[in-house]
Amino acid sequence: MSELTDPDLRRAVATVVNSGVGLDEAGVLAVLRLPDDEVAAALDAAHQVRMRWCGPEVEVEGIISVKTGGCPEDCHFCSQSGLFTSPVRAVWLDIPALVEAARQTAATGATEFCIVAAVRGPDERLMAQMREGVKAIKDAVDIQVAASLGMLSQTQVDDLVAIGVHRYNHNLETARSFFPNVVTTHTWQERFDTLRMVRDSGMEVCCGGILGLGETLEHRAEFATQLASLAPDEVPLNFLNPRPGTPLADSTVVDPRDALRAIAAFRLALPRTILRFAGGREITLGDLGTRDGLLGGVNAVIVGNYLTTLGRSANRDLALLDELKMPVKALSSAL
Ligand code: SF4
Repeated sequence: MSELTDPDLRRAVATVVNSGVGLDEAGVLAVLRLPDDEVAAALDAAHQVRMRWCGPEVEVEGIISVKTGGCPEDCHFCSQSGLFTSPVRAVWLDIPALVEAARQTAATGATEFCIVAAVRGPDERLMAQMREGVKAIKDAVDIQVAASLGMLSQTQVDDLVAIGVHRYNHNLETARSFFPNVVTTHTWQERFDTLRMVRDSGMEVCCGGILGLGETLEHRAEFATQLASLAPDEVPLNFLNPRPGTPLADSTVVDPRDALRAIAAFRLALPRTILRFAGGREITLGDLGTRDGLLGGVNAVIVGNYLTTLGRSANRDLALLDELKMPVKALSSAL
């Protein structure tokens, strides 16, 4: 087994393992810059942190898009923006389809079902559908309901709490200082304001982002520590899967070793969070990397399909968890 050769970093990582307090920005950057032959040591430390501060369980989640495509925003990585030529079919799901999707998700053993909409923020039509849809799901299926509906007003935050949405996803996407390079129709601060309201409401905060947008390692370290300052309950980590028609269509996919460095670094920055493999892991890491990630700090996966690209099948993921002896988190322990 390789070791970390830098004594300062070795000490800092040992402190994370023992204290559950994350690495600072300089420490995160040092992990992101590790030579190839020390990546295994960083992943091993990240795994120790995950086992000590989160335990062996893996949270499984399904996501469904209630409204796909036609978003007025210009996030350069996103094929759901109506401003780009990406071939995404516009869809609005009705309530029976939502309930059926929740039922199928629960059947995989998942405890979380996240309803997602490609919007700047919800309008009254979408909020009405959420009120009806969440109630119908709760009446029919034993699963926790999360939502991702863009930027919220305080009234909308209160409404989501009242209908029983327990976790809200809104990604900061990238470092504050890099954000204007990838989004021009709204600001990082606007996203952060929504997250603060969500946090103050008592809903769990799910906030992550995408690596591979053209950001530097310094931006990644900045981003990891900005996320840590929010103390999110969950961080979904995406890797860019360049989509046709978007401004980032010709971007290079993140190098698998850089992706593994990032997984270790984000876990060491966020020792107690649910760190979720989200979109892009197949194209970046393949099967082997998925295993390395789960043994390097990741403790949650999305099963089935992502919003606009196909993910690994639920059965393959569940078989891998079984092989790794990582139990799927049960609903009772999630409540
Ligand atoms: S990331 Fe969200 S806000 Fe940005 S274009 Fe896509 S759906 Fe719209």
